[in-house]
Amino acid sequence: MLSVEEAFRTIVGQFRPLETERVPLREACDRVLAEDVRSPEPVPPFDNSAMDGYAVRFEDTLGASAGAPVALFVVGEVPAGRAPEARVEPGTAVRVMTGAPMPEGADAVVMREDTREHPDRVEVLLPAEHGEHVRRVGDDIPADSRVLEAGTVLNPSALGVLASIGVGRIAVVRRPRVALLATGDELVELGQPLGPGQIRNSSAHALEAAIAAMGAVPVPLGIARDDRAELTAKLHEGARADLLVTTGGVSVGDYDLVREVLTSLGQLDLWRVNMQPGKPLAFGHIDGCPVLGLPGNPVSSMVAFELFVRPAIRRLQGHTALAHARVPVVLDAPMTKKNARRQYLRAVVRLVDGAFHADLTGPQGSHMLTSMARANALVILPEGTRSYAAGDRVEGHLLGEGALFENRDSDAV
Ligand code: AMP
Ligand code: MG
Repeated sequence: MLSVEEAFRTIVGQFRPLETERVPLREACDRVLAEDVRSPEPVPPFDNSAMDGYAVRFEDTLGASAGAPVALFVVGEVPAGRAPEARVEPGTAVRVMTGAPMPEGADAVVMREDTREHPDRVEVLLPAEHGEHVRRVGDDIPADSRVLEAGTVLNPSALGVLASIGVGRIAVVRRPRVALLATGDELVELGQPLGPGQIRNSSAHALEAAIAAMGAVPVPLGIARDDRAELTAKLHEGARADLLVTTGGVSVGDYDLVREVLTSLGQLDLWRVNMQPGKPLAFGHIDGCPVLGLPGNPVSSMVAFELFVRPAIRRLQGHTALAHARVPVVLDAPMTKKNARRQYLRAVVRLVDGAFHADLTGPQGSHMLTSMARANALVILPEGTRSYAAGDRVEGHLLGEGALFENRDSDAV
């Protein structure tokens, strides 16, 4: 049996970032920047006031206090978005709003709150320091500096940074197209009645949502019957995508043709991975397209998605953060592990007094997708059999995009 780590390395090691495309900012969120970006202009573009108040010469305010204020003549006013008309000469001040360009001659701003205001003059109650409450040109981004590096994940703030320097289109790694094929004679699509022995195709819908939620493009191919011609046609169709994911038909007990057809069409290995759920897994290529064959049980396919498919897709997307955060969790109930494979148990993890505590979401059958729907983590019970007491510490694998980090030490999953 393959270890989870070996399967991860073999699979993820085969994926490289896709080509790049130039898109408007609103299509770039959470995508990976494919070029260094230099700023054509400084941000802020001019010296401006950080406060509503008075632009002054700081020397004029030396020694000011509430008891002995310094009085200055107000010679003008600058709202944000206007060019200053008046200059600040010794003994004068200009009223400025937040974001207003600094008038010439001024080198500090006194907050309104530190003044007493009169129609033509202002009393300053505190001494100003040189440069106080002034935002200097280029103090955030100097002109002609490198603002963002290739490989950066464009979060909303990064998109704001690009807008702040006037960049409206940007080169990013294109979105992977991920084809999805459910296999099995027993499967029925939504809207169809259930016949004897039939179940609904649930796995494909869960996987389709997971693929879309991570910013890839799902290409749903529906259900392939256990029929050689139909399977072959659908697999070739799916192989036009950047990745083909199938569900079902890869376990040893299968009567159906999926394994036979999968392996006859390309170079495909059928693996047994030392984990539960999700032991059977197929990986290889059809028509040059990488193919990942997941087990059919809905929980097994979702766990295999988290461990192997999500990191593979993230590689295609150009991400380097592939590893789920693994955090120490305290078990709140005893449990006995009878199966020697590494177990991934669906759990809700909560912070209690600074420590993560894990509560299983209920019965853990691989067909029980409700237990996965409620989970925010997978509790990992290592290989081997043993009993765990309440209060024992193990590791929890946090689910979701937000819990992905770079792992520079190893390929731990
Ligand atoms: P298999 O991996 O094909 O041996 O399927 C394992 C179990 O998962 C069987 O009980 C199947 O009926 C079930 N199953 C297979 N595909 C799906 C699917 N797309 N949705 C829900 N259950 C499935
Ligand atoms: Mg099957």
